[in-house]
Amino acid sequence: MNIAHLLPRIAHQDPNRPAIFHGSTCVASYGEWAQRCAHLAGQFQRAGLQPGDRVAIFCRNHPRYLEVMFGAWWAGLAVVPINAKLHVREAQWIVDNAQARWAFITQDLTADVTPDTAAQLQGLERVVDIESGQADDWWAPVDGAPPSPIVPRQATDLAWLFYTSGTTGRPKGVMITHRNLMTMGLTYFNDVDSIAPHDTIAYAAPMSHGAGIYAIPHLMAGARHAVPASGGFEPAELFALGQALGPLSLFAAPTIVKRLVDHAESAQHTKAQCSASFKTVVYGGAPMYAADIQRAIRVMGPRFVQIYGQGESPMVGTALSRQHLADTQHPRYSERLASVGLAQTPVRIRVCDHQGQDMPLGEVGEVLIQGDSVMAGYWHNPEATAAAIRDGWLWTGDMGALDADGFLTLKDRSKDLIISGGTNIYPREVEEVLLHAPGVHEVAVVGAPDAEWGEIVVAFVVPLPGADLSIEALDAHCLQEIARFKRPKRYEIVQELPKNNYGKVLKTALRARLQSPGPATC
Ligand code: AMP
Repeated sequence: MNIAHLLPRIAHQDPNRPAIFHGSTCVASYGEWAQRCAHLAGQFQRAGLQPGDRVAIFCRNHPRYLEVMFGAWWAGLAVVPINAKLHVREAQWIVDNAQARWAFITQDLTADVTPDTAAQLQGLERVVDIESGQADDWWAPVDGAPPSPIVPRQATDLAWLFYTSGTTGRPKGVMITHRNLMTMGLTYFNDVDSIAPHDTIAYAAPMSHGAGIYAIPHLMAGARHAVPASGGFEPAELFALGQALGPLSLFAAPTIVKRLVDHAESAQHTKAQCSASFKTVVYGGAPMYAADIQRAIRVMGPRFVQIYGQGESPMVGTALSRQHLADTQHPRYSERLASVGLAQTPVRIRVCDHQGQDMPLGEVGEVLIQGDSVMAGYWHNPEATAAAIRDGWLWTGDMGALDADGFLTLKDRSKDLIISGGTNIYPREVEEVLLHAPGVHEVAVVGAPDAEWGEIVVAFVVPLPGADLSIEALDAHCLQEIARFKRPKRYEIVQELPKNNYGKVLKTALRARLQSPGPATC
């Protein structure tokens, strides 16, 4: 099994079908995409790269991303996606750890990276700037050299070596196999959405993460792939792109969904305009608060699907379907809205105590996942692999509870749980409450060490623009909504929350800030 076979499957049927778009301009048909991959694979082979060797991609979102991914798989190589927002030193660490032989780069990664930065990567046999004038040669036919056939691979062979975001310690290389990717692709159709050949996926979130591998289900369906001209997430651009190409599907983290909804509201787009531009917005990767998804549906209509997964079981864990999100009359609607939905088709989910015993329904334990989407292990890290995969189950580090219908509600990462006076407090519950307080834009709740209580609850609150937040009002709001012991003992009003390159709030950074005494205590 080589995931690259998906490409000629469509290209042979319909070589002229438009495949890859840069903005609204078609830059490759399916036939061209397949040919370029075959030629690139030939270049890899002539340069002596062997099946299983690693090729890094340190590029911002770009149409060529798709050609490099499938060209590498075509040659039997494994892709190492590197988030374009990483510092070159962090990227270098990944390149070294993965022992990558080649890297594909774009020079201007993000605004805060100076030109040439990506080109400073060391220890590689070749660094290809995918935008340079000579780059076309890598994808072009070479005189006398036939296009390379797809190199056979085992289902268990490495395809995608994804590095965790490393909020604690060094990132770990997650070994995702061809079978993992095939499973993820096929699962999309049963648990997330249908895809028609005229549909378009827009790559607005980093292609180095889940958004990039969502190319696979869209390739399975022979759909269109559009990389916005900006290479990123600009709500107005996406609205226009959807108008030009037809309704878009995209994956986005909750903070990005919020920005899209803010834009739809401020630009006064009607639901009809929203459905002209967007078919489906898949959200996940971080908690989506109930108030936010309700507002999103109110403003943009029923086009949202939630997924829960992690790099170790990419995009496949649970899903909360469009139908469940629309079933407002269900007696447990509010619980379901706060959940991450049901196990996706190819996996089983359990919630267990430390010994691996199932918790009773409704009680919180660690979430375990088993199925064909789960990684083969961590790259060159048997200790971490043995800790994460036990008796065939992936221990996710996420805390959650299952209900009688099979819906999973996530609480917090086990390390984010606050234990105050011997009682467990789930930060997310406090965050949900504070988000409803007037004038609040964003919230993150963490525990701070305390001599008396073990830990106390601390809330970092970002006000809405122009809002004048008072700690007394926030505290009164909490007293009205949750048990006294759960309410924050300290509030910090901040202008923004520290986030990692995928937009996840860095609670480790917030906890570190609390080591120094803060001003706003009540
Ligand atoms: P990553 O490996 O970077 O994709 O991060 C995966 C982690 O993000 C999971 O282990 C969860 O803690 C969190 N996560 C993913 N999806 C969701 C979701 N739908 N709701 C809440 N947290 C999520």
